[in-house]
Amino acid sequence: MKRVRCPKCDNYVYFNDQNYEAGQSLVFICEECDKQFRIRLGKTPLKATRKDEDLSPENLEAPFGYLSVIENLFSFKQLIPLSEGDNLIGRRSPGSKVTIPIETGDMSMDRRHTIINIQRKGGEIICTIQDNDSMTGTFLGAEEILPGDIRRIESGQVITTGATTFIYYTKE
Ligand SMILES: [Zn+2]
Repeated sequence: MKRVRCPKCDNYVYFNDQNYEAGQSLVFICEECDKQFRIRLGKTPLKATRKDEDLSPENLEAPFGYLSVIENLFSFKQLIPLSEGDNLIGRRSPGSKVTIPIETGDMSMDRRHTIINIQRKGGEIICTIQDNDSMTGTFLGAEEILPGDIRRIESGQVITTGATTFIYYTKE
């Protein structure tokens, strides 16, 4: 996956560069602002996605655990540290303020989709999740988290928001 920035609104547009050849011209339509723009592969310097950088949990500063976003059609692999207290998670979008913006083209993920809360009790880290009144809901494993429900999550559990899946890990 590679990404290009929309020249009008700065939103990232993602595409799979392996489907195209150098010199080929590609036309994009930004999903945020509908701006149409063109790049030529191999001539425009492309920003590597974070997948291409050294991404390993060992190098991550995450005393309260982290989310591992699974690569799919819309997004690349991302490791995102969590903070103590509420972590509001949503699709990265210019102008929207969330604790954890996930870079994805997945429009079924709300800009403010789900809340993960981290509390320290004694020596233990307690992690809970609740849906933030999202359009497509938040799933823990195969089970939807019902409105108003707050669910405990353990390391290794799979969370799905729209078509985006991530796994919560504590750092051992
Ligand atoms: Zn745009």
